[in-house]
Amino acid sequence: MSSRIAALRIVMGDQLTPRLSALRDADKAHDVILMVEIGAAAINPNRHKKKIAFVFAAMRAFAKELQDAGWRLDYVRLDDPDNAGSFGGEIARAVRKWRPERLIATEASAWRALEMQREWGQANDLPLALLPDDRFLCTRGAFADWAKDRIVLRMEYFYRDMRRRTGLLMDGDAPEGGRWNFDSENRKPAKPDLFMPQPLRFPASPETVEVLELVATRFADHFGDLAPLWLPVTRADAEKARDHFIEHGLPLFGDYQDAMLRGEKFLYHSLLAPALNIGLLDPLDLCRRAEEAYRAGAAPLNSVEGFIRQIIGWREYVRGIYWTHMPGYTERNALGATRDLPELYWSGETDMACMRAVIGQTKEDAYAHHIQRLMVTGNFAMLAGVDPHQVHEWYLAVYADAYEWVEAPNTIGMSQFADGGLLGSKPYAGSGAYINRMSDYCKGCAYKVAEKTGPAACPFNYLYWDFMARNRDVLLRNPRMAQPYRIYDKFAEPHKAAIAQSASSFLQHLAEHGDDRGFGA
Ligand code: FAD
Ligand code: SF4
Repeated sequence: MSSRIAALRIVMGDQLTPRLSALRDADKAHDVILMVEIGAAAINPNRHKKKIAFVFAAMRAFAKELQDAGWRLDYVRLDDPDNAGSFGGEIARAVRKWRPERLIATEASAWRALEMQREWGQANDLPLALLPDDRFLCTRGAFADWAKDRIVLRMEYFYRDMRRRTGLLMDGDAPEGGRWNFDSENRKPAKPDLFMPQPLRFPASPETVEVLELVATRFADHFGDLAPLWLPVTRADAEKARDHFIEHGLPLFGDYQDAMLRGEKFLYHSLLAPALNIGLLDPLDLCRRAEEAYRAGAAPLNSVEGFIRQIIGWREYVRGIYWTHMPGYTERNALGATRDLPELYWSGETDMACMRAVIGQTKEDAYAHHIQRLMVTGNFAMLAGVDPHQVHEWYLAVYADAYEWVEAPNTIGMSQFADGGLLGSKPYAGSGAYINRMSDYCKGCAYKVAEKTGPAACPFNYLYWDFMARNRDVLLRNPRMAQPYRIYDKFAEPHKAAIAQSASSFLQHLAEHGDDRGFGA
């Protein structure tokens, strides 16, 4: 039996940061860090293989980083025959092995995991220190204070407070450039461009290859392509990816933030969310570097402001919404949607070119950018009346950056309007015209975006109006929805009937077959 240690410091899979609160003020000689690859049974059966491999590879790289820095580590691999298959079981085993005087951990990022952590002390009859996760810029308490006297929680006002608090892009007390938000200059459609930047791709190290082999064996039936895994899994590579983005992607990030192109999956996006969410990059440091690029004249204000807003605005705001409304938030269903998630979300087999492209790249890379998630797959699910909880589980499973604290508000709130307007002031619903304006998908589609009803028409067109008609009682209370209802009310009755008929036949085909193949033929 090992001699007694002072503290067992438990680090979870998305806490891969040396300055983590649980590692601060630690005594390397007398403490041990416990990291556990949790068992296959605990992993959602649909989780993307690439996400599983990314997390384990990054955990192993972080363990090495800590060991190189002189830490004592108890690292439990998934294929360790003694792996108990659960966090609770592994902590109990480590307590027997190390006989610590106390347990120390940083609060988990998800509600259920935090509930589980709270039991660790009592279950092992030891004092437990659960420390706040101060890698975020707004504490849970500060967000709750900001939210408590407000009737509506608008991200824009939260964001302005965050700009003032961090000093990012400030000119004294005023916003740099005289405005808080430069979105009116963004949102342009893109054209294919030979010189479009490509993300840095990192070849798999021998350690990552070992993880890939493990995942291939243990998770063979899971969704998605396992290889190649080219995301950065070490801090050094994540920093290279960050610098590459700031130099090559950031200058046009704002302009083409909402654009979608068939041949360009990544456009000017950063692809940094997996590294940020797992702890390989620091959000404030990233924003400061983006600001430096602006101050050095290397990136324009519209792009840098847009990028910083995503991180100190949206990222922090959705986390605040999550924690002020959990538990229960993931069960919300304000529009009473009950349809099962169609099988095409897993197979990618569909005649809708936009859905095929987005689900296809999701399978390949565990990545789709924001507008693809919001206005293609999310929009379709909402228009088709899919149960938001099933939509939530899909997003949580398929993206490399998916963690409940960030995924759930984006899915339940922003994309499905299932929280009834807590997060977004109106549903992000769009017809085929929106997708056609922002992408080149419609050019290669079996459906015709200009047609409104009938088997050849773009399904987004009639599903959009059918969604509006179906949810009239709830949505008409929202002043921002008055205009589309005015348009709908002017439609001739035969057109309204054709919309309802097209939507009903399409949704019936979807329910019977799990996809729309052959519907438009
Ligand atoms: P970029 O476009 O380069 O943006 C820069 C960074 O800003 C991102 O890395 C991310 O950290 C942050 N960011 C941008 N938009 C948001 C947002 N709406 N909320 C929070 N942070 C944001 N993001 C996740 O990190 N994890 C998720 O599980 C997730 N699920 C989503 C589900 C749906 C339905 C939708 C509509 C959005 C979701 N997002 C999620 C937000 C956003 O789509 C991703 O952060 C982004 O696409 C990640 O790609 P990127 O790193 O290239 O981002
Ligand atoms: Fe998507 Fe409709 Fe365009 Fe086809 S026509 S790509 S279904 S928006």
